[in-house]
Amino acid sequence: MSKQGNIGVTSENIFPIIKKFLYSDHEIFLREIVSNAVDATQKLKTLSSVGEYKGELGDQTIRIKIDEKDGTLTVSDRGIGMTAEEIDKYINQIAFSGAEEFVEKYKNDAASIIGHFGLGFYSTFMVSRKVEIVTRSCKEGAVPMRWSCEGNPEYVLEETEKADIGTDIILHIDDENKDFLNKDRISGLLKKYCRFLPIAIAFGKKQEWKDGKYADTEEDNIINDTKPAWVRKPSELTDEDYKKFYRELYPMSDEPLFWIHLNVDYPFNLTGILYFPRVKNSIDLNRNKIQLYSNQVFVTDSVEGIVPEFLTLLHGVLDSPDIPLNVSRSYLQSDSNVKKISNHITKKVADRLEEIFKNDRPQFEEKWDNLKLFIQYGMLSEEKFYERAVKFALFKDTDCKYYTFDEYRTLIKDNQTDKDGQLYYLYTNSLEEQYSYIQAAKDKGYSVLLMDGQLDVHTVGQLEQKFEKSHFVRVDSDTPENIIRKSDAGKVELSDDQRQALQEMFKSQTPAVGKAEFYVTFEALGENTNPVMLTQSEYMRRMREMSAMQPGMSFYGEMPDSYNIVLNTDHVLIKKVLADQETACAAEIAPIAADIKGWEARQADLREIQNAKKDGEESSAEEKEDMENTNSRLDELKNQRNAILSQYAAGNTMVHELIDLALLGNGMLKGEPLSRFIRRSIQMIG
Ligand code: ADP
Repeated sequence: MSKQGNIGVTSENIFPIIKKFLYSDHEIFLREIVSNAVDATQKLKTLSSVGEYKGELGDQTIRIKIDEKDGTLTVSDRGIGMTAEEIDKYINQIAFSGAEEFVEKYKNDAASIIGHFGLGFYSTFMVSRKVEIVTRSCKEGAVPMRWSCEGNPEYVLEETEKADIGTDIILHIDDENKDFLNKDRISGLLKKYCRFLPIAIAFGKKQEWKDGKYADTEEDNIINDTKPAWVRKPSELTDEDYKKFYRELYPMSDEPLFWIHLNVDYPFNLTGILYFPRVKNSIDLNRNKIQLYSNQVFVTDSVEGIVPEFLTLLHGVLDSPDIPLNVSRSYLQSDSNVKKISNHITKKVADRLEEIFKNDRPQFEEKWDNLKLFIQYGMLSEEKFYERAVKFALFKDTDCKYYTFDEYRTLIKDNQTDKDGQLYYLYTNSLEEQYSYIQAAKDKGYSVLLMDGQLDVHTVGQLEQKFEKSHFVRVDSDTPENIIRKSDAGKVELSDDQRQALQEMFKSQTPAVGKAEFYVTFEALGENTNPVMLTQSEYMRRMREMSAMQPGMSFYGEMPDSYNIVLNTDHVLIKKVLADQETACAAEIAPIAADIKGWEARQADLREIQNAKKDGEESSAEEKEDMENTNSRLDELKNQRNAILSQYAAGNTMVHELIDLALLGNGMLKGEPLSRFIRRSIQMIG
């Protein structure tokens, strides 16, 4: 029988489309024909097992050959083969998917049929000027057939000779794609796509070093592992097997922390092994390490949309014939199977973590620093995961002790609740820079959490939303007394003049530190607390930190850092600074202060007149002039007074020393001011 005809597709000529647009990656043709071969081989096994094929299965190795002279690449299998009618049906009428019909017929036996690739076979035309199929069906008495086609809608189908059952697909590689005749190239592609296919695949022979060169041996060069770890039963596998498989996948990576063996067959099919890699920081570094397979055929290593975002940090393999392949990402994301799979994976990951936490807490704690980033990311991005993880997520304090959220709350509840019943979680993001603040908090019996991770800023925000009546405050954001107010604060006993004097003296002598702004504030903190402290508002600092991470919040990003220089008015040194200043400057300042009082009284009167006016009633020109005059006179006087104060402060070692000590306590005394401080301190000791 010999036949010529037109390939039955609706489109006039599908070949240019295939060649140019259908597949962006030409190389996938190899995956398609090798998986067709695997498919045909498995079908024969199935037929044999149900007694429909009575012959010998024989050696089912799939063989791939390159003939550089002829310019051909051949994939040969010993599978079911095709009859003339089947070629007509499955190849000529390309819209038909043969696999579908087969699966329908052998529903219960044919679970491992690869039938997802649509126009799979025709992808060979992306790289071939001519494709031949030489095939002999396993059906008794079937006539071997040769089909050939030169990349146009016409084909030839004729009888031929073939000793064995099965199929050879012969690609006559075209001129633009000669690289597919290169042994290393094909070897690389087989490794990428076919490495874990379930039927042995031979690419040439194993070689050995003989007489000064490599020569072929008799032994097939099998390129795949037909039973990779994820398709085996967990009970058959040792820890070493899992680690070995990990090394096979990622030869350059450190040993994984944990792994999860997935094995689901209802309501969808999913197997795989997910590994928790050792990551500390840098979320982006290790993405796209999970490989996605469909019945052991490699599909992709970009799994966004298939697994939840935070799980893309994991490594390993997922295998599911239920994930639609070769479709757009947005389609994937809305596919209900994909959603189910994604939820299931999240659940499994949480189960496994909880199990380790429950059964082996020391191990869990030991690995927490590596796990933390991953768990936080999950909690921040998946509500479902948060609900699970809240049971095993840990806090680490500055003494490197670990607590669950509940344990920690119990620990701090009594001592860190303020007078209004609000619970305060203190944290630091630098054990070194905030050392003195941590110490001060500890002296009060407070516990301080170490929050120095990449996602801690976000986690703090999240937990504040979730925990009731709770606040997270960095240790350096206020004095320990003020962070958690146990009772009404001590009263600052200063007159306005005294406040202004201290403010001017300290502010004028604070050295410039980058763009930072400093404000002088007062607290009555008791005689035994430091005289000066530098604090930074929790709110402002957080805003700046968030804006550094998120575009569109540049307003806060551009604000300078602002700090409070807190003077402890109970401390003897502050009292002394004030008393010394009053004695030294009294004579000079007294008349100015008296003048200021007078003009302030005048200003108050004018304001009252202004306020007494009805809406819309304008001040007279005279009144306006009077007001301007008063204001500018007051400014002048205040400037005079401030000049005296700052000049005095400039020569006052104690003021300088106190400011420098506050900066030093916050790691902010550097460069020239630091060396001045050292010189001054030495002189003071001497
Ligand atoms: P799909 O694999 O998605 O069905 P293909 O275009 O790759 O689509 O293949 C079409 C059909 O051709 C297959 O379903 C199968 O019936 C048949 N076929 C392809 N390759 C082989 C082969 N090596 N042996 C037997 N049948 C094959």
